[in-house]
Amino acid sequence: MRPIYVTPAIVLRTRPFGESDKIVSFLTEDFGKVTGIAKGAMRSRKRFVNSLESFALVNLRFQDRPQNDLAFILTAELLVGYRQLSTSLERMSHAAYLVEITDGLISEREENLAVYRHLRDSLRYLEEHGTSLRFLTSFELKLLRLVGYQPVLDNCKRCRKDCNEVSCQWYFSLIDGGILCDTCAGSRRETLPLGTRAVEVLTALQAEADALPVSLSLPFSVIKEMRAVTQRFVQFHMDREIKSAAFLHQFSSAYSGAN
Ligand SMILES: [Zn+2]
Repeated sequence: MRPIYVTPAIVLRTRPFGESDKIVSFLTEDFGKVTGIAKGAMRSRKRFVNSLESFALVNLRFQDRPQNDLAFILTAELLVGYRQLSTSLERMSHAAYLVEITDGLISEREENLAVYRHLRDSLRYLEEHGTSLRFLTSFELKLLRLVGYQPVLDNCKRCRKDCNEVSCQWYFSLIDGGILCDTCAGSRRETLPLGTRAVEVLTALQAEADALPVSLSLPFSVIKEMRAVTQRFVQFHMDREIKSAAFLHQFSSAYSGAN
């Protein structure tokens, strides 16, 4: 008999399959991303009591199926439902974004306990403390590091120039995965402007500096530059549109410069 695996897991996404089944992707603690078929999930609520909702933390039992990429989902017992997240459109939009970009940056069955913990702890934080620009951007930077795409922010990725001039203009190169000075950026495609202040704040967030205030009071121009860089860089590595990004912009006070 094929073994049954049991692991804590976060629901990443679900879609209906046929009349009564669902295909569900989970980020598990022990096996990385697991996608499987939950037979009868559309009709029978017994084995999946409220447990296949977005962001839910569950105790998952599954089996692999021979010659099939989809696992067989036996049961998913709800551990934490994150009910607060669905009470505000802003929180929900942020949670959907965190889950979608995590899903987009990891591959099936690639074990990464740190990524699992990062998403689990971040959803809990979001539920307890609400949204903030600092939190959102820190989440992206840490996720990028954990999956091996940490951007270089302390000096020019090509010539290593370290710029201390206040007025220095940087560019973030998606292809190079780091900032470029004025000279090096000249001939590169896919670059985004990034002023000195935005570079400083991103560097501090990446270093998880405790000295930074929880609420960042920054000019909207700086916020816009920072958000454009981290989001576009994540999208570059996902190699597809981030569907929840429009939702996030619509409901996020971060984009009004409020936090
Ligand atoms: Zn340079």
